[in-house]
Amino acid sequence: MLNHKFEELRHAGNLPSPSGVGLAILRLTQNPDHSIEELARCIQADPALTGRLLRLANSSSRAGVDPAQTVTQAAMRLGIRAVRNVALGFTLVSAHRGGMCAGFDYDRYWSESLARAVAASAVAARARSSDPAEAFTCGLLSEIGMLALASVHADAYGRVLGETAERPLAELLEAERRAFQIHHVEISAGLMSEWGLSRAITGAVSLWASQSTAEIEESSQQCLAWTLDVATRIAEILRSDRSHESAEHVSAWTSLRESAERLSIDELVLAELCARISREWQEWGEQFRIPTRPNADFGPSPPAAIAGEPVGALHDEETRVVASVEPVREETSHKSGDPIHVLIVDDDVRLLRLVSFHLERAGYQVSTAEDGKAGLQLAIEQRPDIVVTDWVMPELSGLEMCKSLRRMQSGHRAYVLLLTAREEEEDRIVDAFAAGIDDYITKPFNARILLARVQAGERLIELQRQVEADKRVRMKQVSDMSLLTRRLRAAGLTDILTELPNRRSAMQRLDQEWDASTNTSRPLSVVMIDIDHFKQINDEYGHAIGDKVLQATAEVLRKKTRRGDIVCRWGGEEFVVINVNSDLAGARRCAERLRASVEANEIFCEGFRGRVTVSLGLAERSPSIFDLEALIKAADNAVYDAKRSGRNTIREGPSEPLSESA
Ligand code: GH3
Ligand code: MG
Ligand code: MG
Repeated sequence: MLNHKFEELRHAGNLPSPSGVGLAILRLTQNPDHSIEELARCIQADPALTGRLLRLANSSSRAGVDPAQTVTQAAMRLGIRAVRNVALGFTLVSAHRGGMCAGFDYDRYWSESLARAVAASAVAARARSSDPAEAFTCGLLSEIGMLALASVHADAYGRVLGETAERPLAELLEAERRAFQIHHVEISAGLMSEWGLSRAITGAVSLWASQSTAEIEESSQQCLAWTLDVATRIAEILRSDRSHESAEHVSAWTSLRESAERLSIDELVLAELCARISREWQEWGEQFRIPTRPNADFGPSPPAAIAGEPVGALHDEETRVVASVEPVREETSHKSGDPIHVLIVDDDVRLLRLVSFHLERAGYQVSTAEDGKAGLQLAIEQRPDIVVTDWVMPELSGLEMCKSLRRMQSGHRAYVLLLTAREEEEDRIVDAFAAGIDDYITKPFNARILLARVQAGERLIELQRQVEADKRVRMKQVSDMSLLTRRLRAAGLTDILTELPNRRSAMQRLDQEWDASTNTSRPLSVVMIDIDHFKQINDEYGHAIGDKVLQATAEVLRKKTRRGDIVCRWGGEEFVVINVNSDLAGARRCAERLRASVEANEIFCEGFRGRVTVSLGLAERSPSIFDLEALIKAADNAVYDAKRSGRNTIREGPSEPLSESA
């Protein structure tokens, strides 16, 4: 039925068809043995066509590649098939600029077709969804069936168009089918296959018109259909004179955004693409003398900040990177619990808002400053983890800000990402690194690349935080260790029961004081103290009570010892007082004070109430006492003397050692 209807239209005789050069190209390329040179000769017969083909070949060539100078070079670059298809499309435009259908706006039709072609090519290049030249042809000719209906059924089609003006495509197709038993997309597909266009193109056009969501096997058709869908929506927005704020515009933009998502094109990339397509569309329009709308307004909100003005066209290199990365995550999960704080500094307020929007959406904590001075102030106050700064700004440039920041202790750890204009020379970038930046990104850039760069900084910040956390843990360990060591050392020198310095400590101090007295000729005395009949307390009240009595006696000795003198537990129920800088007279006073205090001190503890007494022996360093051992021995001997003298008394050394029998 469909084929039958298409045949009928075809026999009506005035379907759009390429003429002149277009026909020659068609005939030539139907011969499978045709050469690239033959095709080039054919195309060169039409200078306008030659110019347009070169332009297309060079617009989709990569940065850094020399532009194609000849049709042959263009054909090599685009591929013979693409050149043939595009040439065909161009000759169709030239041949069908006007017609008999009063209700058909030929200018508008070609204007939209051109916008769709330019958009399809740019979208295909950006998303790497299809061959850009093939997408161009597909966009240019996808609605050629409308031109066919306008040519064959001029009056009737004029009425159909009048009835369905501003209605969705599906309604137009339905009305066409009611009136002509075939709709224009079916005619487009028929014409395209007649002109020898690939199944990918014809299939994509049918698939796009059916708006089928079913998975199909030929993914090239599917990708091209999606590309065509995005391109159609862009073309519609470019052509439309609706206000940017209108509900229709917002709804059209939302649909476009959803459609673009299937090709992994995010909103920002889309806004940039639209701006670029708008410019290219106007340039192509001038060539064909087809009307276009300058300054087409488009874009969503908040990226409305850049609507109509691009962050800029991207390098093909960037295009490839963009196409190969996953869609931007809504939330960036930061490894450490703390959010990453990003300070953005740019005097271009719209760019500032845009970058801020994308970083906030990715989960960063963002603050902004509109010039270098304010940026530096904020950086000092807030100590951001990452600083994203423009280079050229009034008052204080990004580099000057970075230099100042690096001079400060607080500015050492911030990761600085510099935004540069494309013109910046490489050697100036080297200067920027010398000024302390960590990375740079060339404007124009897109959200994914910006985020990728910021995330690289984030990884460094996380690593830095980890190192700092490790360092804190290590410092705590070191301080714990030294505290432990100090405690152990103290424990090694302290008597557990009485908490007085122990015998080891006493020996160390005695050594020190002996040396000091040697060096300074200051006097040095010791008092040895022994509790009288202590064994009896143990025997009578038990060892625990004995301990309590020892503790109580030690406490009295500690309290009654002069500041500067050192009282230690010598062992058992014996104590020693080191009288620093004290002669025998001083030691005597000390000894008497201690003896009397102990005797006076009534000890109360569980099951015991009573007093103890002590016997004390003094010795002063003198010429006859040659060493420490002799000094201690003399004091010891004096204690024995005191014991022999009836206890609770004081004796002075040196004295003769007690004989075994005594
Ligand atoms: P003297 O008047 O001749 O010094 O008689 P003493 O009983 O005090 O002397 P002796 O050397 O015969 O006895 C000392 C006792 O002190 C023996 C020991 O059991 C006791 N002693 C030593 N160290 C401790 C201790 O840490 N706690 C207790 N409860 N008793 C101790
Ligand atoms: Mg004793
Ligand atoms: Mg004793």
